[in-house]
Amino acid sequence: MYTVTSITVISDSEKRAQGAIDSAYREIDRLEKLLNFYSRESEVSLINDNAGIMPVRVSQDTLDVIEKAIYTSEMTGGAFDITVGPVVKLWDFQSRVVPDEKTISEKAKLTGYRNIVLDKTGGTVFLSTRGMQIDLGALVKGYAADRAVEILKSNGITSGIVTIGGEVKAFGTRPGGDQWNVGIQNPRPVKNVENLVPPNPPSEKRGDGEVSDQILATIKLSDRAISTSGDYEKFFVKEGKWYHHIFDPKTGHPVYECQSVTIVAKDAVFTDAFATGIFVLGPERGLEVLKRVGFDGVIVDKNGTIHMTDGLQGKVKFLGREK
Ligand code: AMP
Ligand code: MG
Repeated sequence: MYTVTSITVISDSEKRAQGAIDSAYREIDRLEKLLNFYSRESEVSLINDNAGIMPVRVSQDTLDVIEKAIYTSEMTGGAFDITVGPVVKLWDFQSRVVPDEKTISEKAKLTGYRNIVLDKTGGTVFLSTRGMQIDLGALVKGYAADRAVEILKSNGITSGIVTIGGEVKAFGTRPGGDQWNVGIQNPRPVKNVENLVPPNPPSEKRGDGEVSDQILATIKLSDRAISTSGDYEKFFVKEGKWYHHIFDPKTGHPVYECQSVTIVAKDAVFTDAFATGIFVLGPERGLEVLKRVGFDGVIVDKNGTIHMTDGLQGKVKFLGREK
């Protein structure tokens, strides 16, 4: 999954715990192979290679993830959109080249989740326009965390926590009956630094500032997933401007309305997807959407102001700063 993964379980048998963890990792690897945007062998590449040509028969997992992605697009008014693939490939975070405007707008024209034809009965996916590409990167880690927890449970584990990058899923309780305590990363862990608002990058002045407050807040969870999307996860700085990896599918440019978005809900596939989608929507419309779908969230907007759903009031412990 190109990220740090960890699995913790509570069990009175080390052998059972290890067996369950091994099975869960095998499941994560299987999904990685199936759903990876960058691997030639994945079903995602098969779908993309056949864009505008023909429908492709795929596995139930691929159908499930795409169906959930389309739901997230519908609920976020297209702010979340897996057809952002051509835009994602254009912005190369290794070479750090800013693409030219004409190419950006050409690639943005290829996006549009309504052009995904999902046939659940026939088990096929068709991208109706040539050049279209789906990238499931915004929800695949969450989906894998959900599946890993299912595998742990089917192996007799009743309590544990799975982390895949910014996606965390906790189930059961810790020994002694406590809930799992999960930290929300501070998107700007620097004190005494001016001008942290984009387009000024968070890292450029890191040397001058005092690095502190790595954790923004903590929250206690059980049988819940939590995901955070942030502009600090993947970015580069060019001529004083900061470019990161979450794009407005309609323009093809990074979005600067939020520093980070954290979502809490039952399924990690949705916390993952909505964290990315609401990052694009911004705090006001984001809170409206969360209310409609019944998920909770903490949004740190571009100015560092924190917005939170009612369901989390009193449940989130902010460290080093006041809500
Ligand atoms: P996450 O880290 O879960 O927020 O996902 C970010 C990744 O999702 C990016 O690296 C892209 O691969 C992809 N992505 C970027 N913008 C969008 C978007 N608006 N909708 C869906 N996926 C996106
Ligand atoms: Mg996501």
